[in-house]
Amino acid sequence: MEKTIDQILQQDQFTKNDIVRLLKSEGKDEKALFAKSSEIKLKYVGNNVYFRGLVEFSNICKKDCLYCGIRASNSKVNRYDIADAEIVKAAKFAHEHRYGSFILQSGERADKQFIGRIENLLKEIKKISNNELGITISLGEQTKETYQRWFNAGAHRYLLRIESSNKELYNKIHPNNKEHSHETRLECLKFLQEIGYQTGTGVMIGLPFQTYDDLANDLLFMQKIDIDMVGMGPFIEHDQTPMYQYKDQLMSLKDRFRLSLKMISVLRIMMKDINIASSTALQAIDPLGREKAIRIGANVIMPNITPTTERANYLLYQNKPCIDEGADDCTNCMEARINMADGEIGYGEWGDSKHYKNKHIK
Ligand code: SF4
Repeated sequence: MEKTIDQILQQDQFTKNDIVRLLKSEGKDEKALFAKSSEIKLKYVGNNVYFRGLVEFSNICKKDCLYCGIRASNSKVNRYDIADAEIVKAAKFAHEHRYGSFILQSGERADKQFIGRIENLLKEIKKISNNELGITISLGEQTKETYQRWFNAGAHRYLLRIESSNKELYNKIHPNNKEHSHETRLECLKFLQEIGYQTGTGVMIGLPFQTYDDLANDLLFMQKIDIDMVGMGPFIEHDQTPMYQYKDQLMSLKDRFRLSLKMISVLRIMMKDINIASSTALQAIDPLGREKAIRIGANVIMPNITPTTERANYLLYQNKPCIDEGADDCTNCMEARINMADGEIGYGEWGDSKHYKNKHIK
């Protein structure tokens, strides 16, 4: 006889089939899933929500991912690169507003000048914040030596999304060349873990060609590589990208949103003490999307503090929210939203992954 959802939720480990059942749950089964993940979240990571002030400092990218609005081949994008002084100013803002952590994100570049520039920026941000600001970087695939240089300069968390753990699916959403290789992505994740970064990954949910089995395998993949943090959210199509041609094959935005919540919920049960970000893409679909994710398992939020003039040019997907609010407005809005979700902001704390700490003190 088939197990009930309640029986599955009482298990310590999930099989792929269990996960698929949970991801397909509806009505009272879905409620039971969300209740379980909320309970686990409170028990293992508490109700603190940690801020990461996000600066998307440049949309110049050498890559051509088929789903991304700022891919190199998109000639309609206004390219920008924020001056270092402005980036440091944003870091000061994050520090003064007791965000605890800062994220530097941009399109991918691996030239010498870029690598040296990031190294200097990291040192500068550490200096102006008296080493009080934790720094996460999300700057794509690099050599192990580069990751090490940036680690030595002060970054201690790195976010590199696998996008899909299924190589075949990955190849369908990226150009098939050496520059976009699934193996390289996996190798980079390994380098990051070997160096000692708190390592994050994530996937897009609701991609064309993606199955429930793929998503279940994605969660098992995160568990297998023992990841410390995850940022995942719904796939949202951008009309200036090649993947837009599949828009009629996608599930509705509402269903992609619902499925993303279930992915977060199942992952929280599977990996109890990791950090899970409530992604901005959730809010692009549902105005209360990020709060809903916090209630059922997420514990990290990334207020966008990129100078407002450039925010509209960093559109990896369309309908991105909060592109015209100043950083101050953004903080006030986030605070109200987190309180609404019964969360408390961990002001001034790095909010490191408990999972990372737990596995390193064993
Ligand atoms: S997803 Fe990242 S690496 Fe790919 S094109 Fe967009 S910014 Fe560049």
